[in-house]
Amino acid sequence: MQHWTIGDVNITRVIEQEDTSMRAEVILPEATPENVLPIEWLKPHFIDESGDLISSIYSLLVQSGDKRIVIDTCVGNDKPRGVPMWNQLQGAFLDEIAQAGFPRESVDYVVCTHLHQDHVGWNTMMVDGEWIPTFPNARYMFSKKDWDWLDGEPITFLGDYAGDSVRPVIEAGLAELYEPDRALTDEVSLVSTPGHSPGHISVSIKSGGESAIVTGDLIHHPCQMAQPRWASPFDFDQAQALETRLEFLEHHCDEDTLIIGTHFPTPTAGFIVRDGVVYRFKP
Ligand SMILES: [Zn+2]
Repeated sequence: MQHWTIGDVNITRVIEQEDTSMRAEVILPEATPENVLPIEWLKPHFIDESGDLISSIYSLLVQSGDKRIVIDTCVGNDKPRGVPMWNQLQGAFLDEIAQAGFPRESVDYVVCTHLHQDHVGWNTMMVDGEWIPTFPNARYMFSKKDWDWLDGEPITFLGDYAGDSVRPVIEAGLAELYEPDRALTDEVSLVSTPGHSPGHISVSIKSGGESAIVTGDLIHHPCQMAQPRWASPFDFDQAQALETRLEFLEHHCDEDTLIIGTHFPTPTAGFIVRDGVVYRFKP
């Protein structure tokens, strides 16, 4: 497990998937092998030898004071999904978070950077044929704009992920539908970075003079630092997503805020540095 410390805040990464199965043609159609292979700094961590993108799905466990916060809950187990690599997973997530000191009953907050199916899965688990909240003592933080959007979305080939991973939490009375910016502790706050979803947020962590930010899907892969205009077909509003990404890259360029991705493969975190008219990721 990877681990970072920001001042007094501890962050641990628990991985559900890390490989080349998230295909560029699906998540970033312009990030073809011929377009990424010339970007030398992407090797060896972020693309493989044939130019396939390496991506990852994980949760971040954040300890801030006496509060335990889980950021993004992956795809989850037992979920019927239209995407084969996400269908009916049987991972060891619950054992792994417990080993990391976050038994599910001890979690205070669950934060979903946005309500897409690879970020909400472990919100619930299957018990006796029912989806129940995995974290019974947590307050689940869903941005109101995202829920207003997802609540009215038709069920697609991707499956009824709202029905199995979001709605049961709301029905159990464990969700807070909030408007950013929203502080969780005096070190951790949820800041608005819209576009990929209507109410998309990033997580800002500041403690002891140090800072980090968990991006969410405002950027899917480090190759978008070299090519910020490469967009994801899953962006709710591509123009707004691009504006958010450009602002984010420029704002955090050449400063000492640790950037922790949400699909960035190991080593996952690093700094944005200027590279000509664009940027580079320095792990
Ligand atoms: Zn995602």
